[in-house]
Amino acid sequence: MEKRKLVIVGSGPAGYTAAIYASRANLSPLLFEGFFSGPAGGQLMTTTEVENYPGFPNGITGPEMMASFKAQSERFGTTILSEDVESVDLSKHPFEVKGKKTRCLADSIIIATGATAKRLDIEGTKDGEFWQKGVSACAVCDGAMPIFRDKQLFVVGGGDTAVEEAIFLTKYASKVFIVHRRDELRASKIMANHAKNHPKIDILWNHTLTRVEGSNVVTGVVLKNLVTKKETKKEAGGVFFAIGHQPNTAFLSGQLPTDDHGYLIVKPNSSATEKEGVFAVGDVQDHVYRQAVTAAGSGCMGALDAERWLTAKGLS
Ligand code: NAP
Repeated sequence: MEKRKLVIVGSGPAGYTAAIYASRANLSPLLFEGFFSGPAGGQLMTTTEVENYPGFPNGITGPEMMASFKAQSERFGTTILSEDVESVDLSKHPFEVKGKKTRCLADSIIIATGATAKRLDIEGTKDGEFWQKGVSACAVCDGAMPIFRDKQLFVVGGGDTAVEEAIFLTKYASKVFIVHRRDELRASKIMANHAKNHPKIDILWNHTLTRVEGSNVVTGVVLKNLVTKKETKKEAGGVFFAIGHQPNTAFLSGQLPTDDHGYLIVKPNSSATEKEGVFAVGDVQDHVYRQAVTAAGSGCMGALDAERWLTAKGLS
C-alpha cells in the first residue's frame, strides 16, 4: 500500500491552504477533496460573492476563489483525489486511510472536512418527501431555481446565515418570512437591521415550523406560535434551513474527542488533536469564527504543525 508523509482529508480554504504549505515544504501531500459528501472546495462553492477575504478589493466568487486555492496547491506538488474518505484507522502508525477507491498509509493526517448545514427533522422535509423539492439548506445554491420565483419563501433560523439567506431570496421571492424561535435575532446588529427594514422580509418571532406540505413540490407550511401555541398554515413555495452546522467527523468513528456540539478538540494555540500526528483545521474544529480567512489560517497552522511533528519524529 502506498505510504505518504501527509494525507489531508477535506478541501475548502483550510484543506487547500494546508496543502499549499505542506507541498512547498516538500511533503508531497495527498489530498482527498471529497465527492459525494459535498462539493470539493467546501462551503465556499455555494457562496456567491466573497467580499471580506483580504486581497480582493472588488470581491471574488467562492468557486473562483476555491479554484485558485486548488490550482496553487497543485502547482507545488499536491496530489488531489476527487474521493471521499470513508474511514481512518488511527490505532496503529502509520495510520491507514480508506477512501471510496483508494487506500493508503499516512505518517500524519490533517483533517479539514468542515461542517454541514443542519436540517430540522419535521414532516415533509426529509429525503423522499420535499427535500430538494422546495426544501433546502442553502439559499445561495438553490434560491435561483424556477420553483421559488415569485413565491412566499420561509427561512428558518435567527443568525447571520438566516438573515443573509433571506436577503438573498428577496431577489426571487414575492415575500420572505424569517421563522425564528425567539423574540430577538442572534444575527449581528447591522444584518438584523437589514432584515427588519427590508420591505420584502417579515420576521415571525417566537415561531417554529412544524410541517411542510405539498404535492410534487412545496405548496405550504404549518407554523406554530410558541407563545400562544396556535398553529397556522401559510402558502409557501420553499423552505430554507439556516439553523447552524454539524462538523463532518463521521468517518472518524469516534477515534478523536469532540466537544458537546461534535467539533474536534485541538490543543490551545495549535492544530494538534489528542492523537499524535493527527491535526484538525478549519470549521471541523472551529465553532467560533468559521470564516474563509480563519479557515485558511488554520490550514496553514496544520501544515506547519504537521511538518514540525514529522521532523521531530525523523519522518520528514
Ligand atoms: P448560528 O449563529 O449558530 O445561528 C443559528 C440560528 O438557528 C440561531 O438563531 C438559532 O436559534 C437557530 N436554531 C438552531 N437550532 C434550531 C432549531 N432546532 N430550531 C429552530 N431554530 C434553531 O448559525 P449561522 O447563522 O449559520 O452563523 C454561524 C456563524 O457564521 C456565526 O458566527 C455567524 O456570525 C457567521 N456568519 C457570518 C456571516 C456574515 O458575516 N456575512 C454570514 C453567515 C454566517 P437561537 O438564536 O434561538 O439559538
